[in-house]
Amino acid sequence: QQATIGVTGLAVMGRNLARNIARHGHVTAVHNRTFTKTEALVDEFGDEGTFVASESLEDFVKSIETPRAIIIMVKAGEPTDAVIDELVPLLDEGDIVVDGGNAHFADTVRREQALSEKGLHFVGMGVSGGEEGALHGPSIMVGGSEHAYERLGPIVESIAAQVDGTPCAAHVGPDAAGHFVKMVHNGIEYADMQLIAEAYDLLRSIAGLSPAEIADVFEEWNGGDLESFLIEMTADVLRHTDGEGGQPFVDVVLDEAEQKGTGRWTVQAALDLGVPVTGIAEATFARSLSGHTEQRAAAREVFTTDPDEQRVSVDRDVFVDQVRAALYASKVVAYAQGFDQIAAGAEEHGWDVDLGSVATIWRGGCIIRAQFLDRIKDAYAEEPDLTTLLTTAYFADAVKGGVDAWREVVATAARGGVPVPAFGSSLSYFDGLRRERLPAALIQALRDDFGAHTYRRVDREGTFHTLWAGDRSEQEI
Ligand code: NDP
Repeated sequence: QQATIGVTGLAVMGRNLARNIARHGHVTAVHNRTFTKTEALVDEFGDEGTFVASESLEDFVKSIETPRAIIIMVKAGEPTDAVIDELVPLLDEGDIVVDGGNAHFADTVRREQALSEKGLHFVGMGVSGGEEGALHGPSIMVGGSEHAYERLGPIVESIAAQVDGTPCAAHVGPDAAGHFVKMVHNGIEYADMQLIAEAYDLLRSIAGLSPAEIADVFEEWNGGDLESFLIEMTADVLRHTDGEGGQPFVDVVLDEAEQKGTGRWTVQAALDLGVPVTGIAEATFARSLSGHTEQRAAAREVFTTDPDEQRVSVDRDVFVDQVRAALYASKVVAYAQGFDQIAAGAEEHGWDVDLGSVATIWRGGCIIRAQFLDRIKDAYAEEPDLTTLLTTAYFADAVKGGVDAWREVVATAARGGVPVPAFGSSLSYFDGLRRERLPAALIQALRDDFGAHTYRRVDREGTFHTLWAGDRSEQEI
């Protein structure tokens, strides 16, 4: 029997994706470099659907109906190139090669060019939701040609998470658009988690709540505007205790956050595009700081914490509500920045990305899934070309309503010596945007002074330079 689609690379992600595809009635060809994994998949889960297992890549390719659609789900980077190189000579013109791994979008651009020269379609497919998502319904961001999506779309839409009957899978744009959007998704996930971590730290260190009490707070928040997978999971994790002593699990985990690199990629790409993704950047740096154990130990020794000096008293209930408002406002900023980056990336690379569709497919299946994304989807439906999410009626009202609390929380954190890089930078970003005049004027004047970099004036058109070292007369350039 010819398979409808093939999956090569059967570690956790590939195996679960293949099972998900087969469960949805598609005959699925499966292959892995090490055959035992293929055998294990068929032995354990063969009754979930129809799998066609092959030991060699040649047989795997032959087992798929043409034009073939082959999903590569191997380690990102060189292994993906190695598999593509092995695969390409075995393919026929018009076949579709899909990279479902976490590729850097620049690699996807390169691979798409190379394969399209050979008459093949290359699709960069961002898959979010971890191994559980891959099995039960991920969020799938597909980049590539329309033609490729015609063949792939029905399959990926059938296996994706569904929200209100809409699949969390879409063709987001050509070549690397899918991987770019997936990258920014992960960046936003970094910001979201950092904001949650700061809220937890504030509630614990300033309001004196226990992890279990904070779990209750998060559970309550999950019933409102903040409702999301990560908020729900935070309540669960904070309630979890360790061993017989029953101490909070969060207290036995080493406080060093690791990273696989997608946050860093997002920030690097944002720097290249000139898009201020301060929430994502601070979240990425905060993880780095947590890992600088020697510096942290040295600083702790020199700057001993005097508990009295840093004690700030707050009304617990009032503060909890202020933190909620600050968290929500900061989250709006982080998402607005992330969507700005997608818009800028799309423009830079000539991808026509529908931001409303991105919000739609993030509503389910992925780590940042949240009720909040419905609001973003609605905002783009109302105004597809909007300048920033921040100023749309719903979000503007939310931010305006929370701004006093936001300031209070950031000020209290500063007084109490609790680091809130994401809360603080989001507030500064907001103030930066809304400020009538920015001190950028002074920076531009300084640039003109030391480097003759010129400036523009508020009162007339043109570009000017002042002869700082001479008679200080102004020249029009
Ligand atoms: P890994 O990233 O751990 O990769 C292991 C797989 O890659 C195995 O099937 C392995 O084959 C294969 N492989 C490695 N090198 C080669 C090579 N040179 N040639 C052929 N095959 C090779 O697997 P995951 O399932 O964790 O992830 C797969 C992809 O999905 C990655 O790109 C990852 O970034 C991405 N991803 C992962 C998520 C997750 O939560 N884990 C979430 C979203 C995306 P063998 O068995 O023979 O060693």
